[in-house]
Amino acid sequence: MEKTTLIIGAGGVGRVVVHKCIKNADVFGKIVLASRSIGRCEEIKSELPNADIDITTVDADITDEVASLIERVNADIVINVALPYQDLTIMDACIRTKTPYLDTANYEHPDEAKFEYKLQWARDEKFKEAGIMGLLGSGFDPGVTNVFCAYAQKHYFDEIDTIDIMDCNDGDHGYAFATNFNPEINLREVSADGRYWEEGRWFTTKPMEVKLVWDYPEVGERDSYLLYHEEMESLVKHIKGLKRIRFFMTFGKSYLTHMKCLQNVGMLGIKEIEHKGQKIVPMEFLKTLLPDPASLGSRTKGKTNIGIVAKGIKDGKRRKIYIYQVSDHEKCFAEVKSQAVSYTTGVPAMIGAKLMLEGKWNGSGVFNMEEFDPDVFMDELNTQGLPWQIKELEV
Ligand code: NDP
Repeated sequence: MEKTTLIIGAGGVGRVVVHKCIKNADVFGKIVLASRSIGRCEEIKSELPNADIDITTVDADITDEVASLIERVNADIVINVALPYQDLTIMDACIRTKTPYLDTANYEHPDEAKFEYKLQWARDEKFKEAGIMGLLGSGFDPGVTNVFCAYAQKHYFDEIDTIDIMDCNDGDHGYAFATNFNPEINLREVSADGRYWEEGRWFTTKPMEVKLVWDYPEVGERDSYLLYHEEMESLVKHIKGLKRIRFFMTFGKSYLTHMKCLQNVGMLGIKEIEHKGQKIVPMEFLKTLLPDPASLGSRTKGKTNIGIVAKGIKDGKRRKIYIYQVSDHEKCFAEVKSQAVSYTTGVPAMIGAKLMLEGKWNGSGVFNMEEFDPDVFMDELNTQGLPWQIKELEV
């Protein structure tokens, strides 16, 4: 029987997931795209006039609404590309309806800028009881970076000592300041303290305190800053023998200067304040002022390069491996009308869901990406638009 794939969230990433699922229609069957407002859904549907897509609204903050929708459309899988705030309600709706679940970012509470898997992992038993699989963080980072680590572990090392995740977005959209994905999520992430893990302990750094210069293939040398990023929480559990893991991201000078000013004047605040008798959240107001990330696609030029550098031992010898993927903003836009940040997130979301529907990745419970065989995912990356490279570096 033909499958039904329910995609929740019609933002930048949702658009890519829809386009890519349609390219793999033999696996995904009928697509139902649901989001808070119908306008974006209509826009995406109109880009694919010959495809089998139904659109509808849903408030994914309400478990009952999501569960009724899953039942009404008889979904075989739910791809959650709304915001991290909706992860738990959508997971609970999947448990209730016994429907497999996938997302790209870990749960955050709207009032507290803190990523952690605790509440999602706590649903593992319920997923097991329901006999369904939940795949967490199937974007690029988290997502592909986890798979790169699993691939390095499987093929290149007996034991990995250190991993540095290196994330560079060298795109230029021509604005003095804008964010490439949801501004609220993006600014909460980069204005938070940095954290890395070493010898079993987490260490905290001030925002942008630790910097290194990294030479990104096809991009060049860029300042890269240590941030906390969610995939580290699961990788320290699953990569054997790991002694240290860090995450670095590039930022341009203009971005950092703007962010510092906005932070200094309180515009990144996430608590309600009173303004002329009205309650507003500064970060939400800022989001209203900033360019919509979806509108950046047509103006963004340049490349992204995201990868991992792993050091460790193979057959008694030390080695250092760099696995990375380069995407070109303009090429991504030409293919699916989204820039590379949405593209590099949406393609792995589609691949994760494809492997689940095909039964190539399966299980009952809640899983992170590195827990499955990386080879099938790495093959799909090469054929679905995200070809990767491996370099042996000098130790
Ligand atoms: P957008 O803000 O562009 O899109 C989010 C969409 O979710 C919007 O269409 C929005 O609807 C919808 N939405 C918000 N709240 C609800 C709700 N309560 N019910 C139903 N729909 C809702 O974000 P992106 O597309 O850029 O990001 C999507 C996800 O991908 C996020 O979770 C983000 O953190 C994650 N991400 C992951 C990355 C990775 O590499 N792992 C990288 C980049 C993003 P409306 O249009 O009405 O506001």
